Amino acid sequence: MGRFVYVDNAATTAPAPEVIAEIDKAMSDIWGNPSSLHVKGREAKHALDNSRERISSKLGCSANELYFTSCGTESNNWALKGTMAMTQRKHIITSKIEHPAVLNTCKALEKNGCRVTYLNVDGDGVVDLAQLKNSITDDTAVVAVMMANNEIGTLEPIKEIAEIAHSKGALMFTDAVQAIGSIPVDVHELGVDMLSFSGHKMHAPKGIGGLYIKRGTRIANLIDGGGQERKFRSGTENLPYIMGLARAFELAYDRFDDIPRIIAMRDRLIDELTKIPYSRLNGHRTNRLPGNINISFEFIEGESLLLLLDMVGICISTGSACSSNSLEPSHVLLSIGLPHEKAHGSLRISLCHNNTEEDIDYIIEQLPPIVKRLRDMSPIYPGDNN
Ligand code: PLP
Repeated sequence: MGRFVYVDNAATTAPAPEVIAEIDKAMSDIWGNPSSLHVKGREAKHALDNSRERISSKLGCSANELYFTSCGTESNNWALKGTMAMTQRKHIITSKIEHPAVLNTCKALEKNGCRVTYLNVDGDGVVDLAQLKNSITDDTAVVAVMMANNEIGTLEPIKEIAEIAHSKGALMFTDAVQAIGSIPVDVHELGVDMLSFSGHKMHAPKGIGGLYIKRGTRIANLIDGGGQERKFRSGTENLPYIMGLARAFELAYDRFDDIPRIIAMRDRLIDELTKIPYSRLNGHRTNRLPGNINISFEFIEGESLLLLLDMVGICISTGSACSSNSLEPSHVLLSIGLPHEKAHGSLRISLCHNNTEEDIDYIIEQLPPIVKRLRDMSPIYPGDNN
């Protein structure tokens, strides 16, 4: 068996052994329904409250400002649709580089009579604050800008955006699915009213997520039923995954002193891979997620690169996993000004604490010859010396 290097952590992460152990414990022992009044129910309710406390203490909010959902997508839908259902205001501001879980929710709201402004970003992927200031009005209900982009890793100035939103009485929502678990996040420091996150991006399983909703925020519930999550999100709580998520939060926040090592690996890869002719780094050079590398190689298709890397045991993405089954170039890369042909030859490498220097050595050994091989087959490649 050859080497296996998983560097697609922005798509999903391997569940941590400690998280799996916590889930196992819940599945075999703490399987009661938190709404039941007997001893098994009380035991489950206690574990639920305890998990909520453990997560909220990391996010810097109080436990009753935290709601569990099934995923980041649900949290994003809830934040936007729930907000628009409770206000007379009809305008939403978001950015052109949001995840489809925000963009398509905005499209659905447009069909229901809302007006949406999609902010431009600069060549590094940072949202245009001047355009935000010009487009926000007394009719703006919510400003939704992601904390870290899932494709190019660029970090957005959320604190400043929140101040601009609040100056017109609008709410501030940030999709922090890619940020939570990778960098320290404190909701009060950011000044946001709502913030979404997802378990599977931080070494917990798929199918669990959450939404921070600041106390006093007017938001409608999305799922009706038995009134769980303080009547805001019905459905019997997925306690095993909630307990696993709490453990994942603790592990992530305990591990932030590993960030400089991840940044050093990222920067080494960026330096080495951009030595390849006709390559370019996408996203900001330093103001990006610690583990994100996104590079375009002209004259090749990202998909061919992905398949050949897969054959030597390296797992990466082209653009984002969500758009990789479409032939359209990534909306994020087009928004930062890449022409179609460069956007097509892009790959995303996303590291986490599990990666080692040996992984980086292996990528540096394998990737350049594969790029060369693909270009040698290309009728339009002008050669390295041109
Ligand atoms: N938001 C961002 C920025 C993402 O990267 C993703 C997943 O890739 C999502 C939302 C959706 O999260 P989930 O997969 O938990 O629905």
